[in-house]
Amino acid sequence: MPLPDLLLELPAPESGFDFDNAFSTREACLAAIIKARWPEGFACPECGHRTAWLHRRRPIIECADCGRQTSPLAGTLFANTKLPLPKAFKLCYLIVAAKSGISMLELTRQAGVAEATATLWKRKLRFVMAGRGKKPLSGTIETDEVVIGGRDEETQGRRLGPNKALIVVSVEDDGGKCGRVRLSAVDSASGEDLRRVVGKHVKPGSTLHTDGWNGYRGMPEVKHEPDPVRDPRKAHVKLPLVHRVASLLKRHILGILHGSWHPEWLGWLLEEWEYRFNRRKAARRPLLFERLLGWGVEMRVPTRKDWHDYTLAARELRVT
Ligand SMILES: [Zn+2]
Repeated sequence: MPLPDLLLELPAPESGFDFDNAFSTREACLAAIIKARWPEGFACPECGHRTAWLHRRRPIIECADCGRQTSPLAGTLFANTKLPLPKAFKLCYLIVAAKSGISMLELTRQAGVAEATATLWKRKLRFVMAGRGKKPLSGTIETDEVVIGGRDEETQGRRLGPNKALIVVSVEDDGGKCGRVRLSAVDSASGEDLRRVVGKHVKPGSTLHTDGWNGYRGMPEVKHEPDPVRDPRKAHVKLPLVHRVASLLKRHILGILHGSWHPEWLGWLLEEWEYRFNRRKAARRPLLFERLLGWGVEMRVPTRKDWHDYTLAARELRVT
């Protein structure tokens, strides 16, 4: 059969019901993947020919000229999955479209899959969320370290107690409102750790507002405007955006995880929360699915070794 019309816009379902209708067949899902992988239209990697055929049963595109077979799923989120594509799509949609996350029970019930499958796909999507190309924050940015877990009063200065994590929160100042956010777990508030985080998340030339902590000094790539806070209890007055974000994050951790977390998935937790926060105003939730599909097909498929490395990286965030 011929390739689906690639000039056709992807369906943009506005609800779960629309989604089911749009992606109820394997062909519809394949068309979406092909569109996401080759936005300008498929071209044979061997000869560059643009006419090709889609295999009726297998997910294979065959070049009409040289006969070379290309798998549209290879290297994507959907490679080597035993799950029928419509089910895999539905799972991704449910995970991404829920504004504040979805419980495992709801997920397995609505997608009609086993818990192990739902867990695997949640992990896959987190992998995609973490690996996506993130643009660094720019303009005026508030940055501060925030302690999560335990009670604030128990924290002495910048030293951490048990079951606590130190998170660097950076927020773009969008005319007094919160712009994009970046979160990073750090081992300490040392200059070295902070420089690494700021270097990764903040575009050179931006203006950084901090509480004046020494750790932020000597970052030549950003314009540092310290605003020393003498009394930590008044920090929210000086850095209101960071503290607004921090209180939302803390509420999330208290609400969903009852205030505890496992160091192994702290990194994922932050990635997922950051992802949702930065898209909280997205008028059309399904757009998120489209983007995710885009990232999912751009990425190298996460192999067993990737999982292993990723788990190690997450473990590195372990806090003492
Ligand atoms: Zn060819």
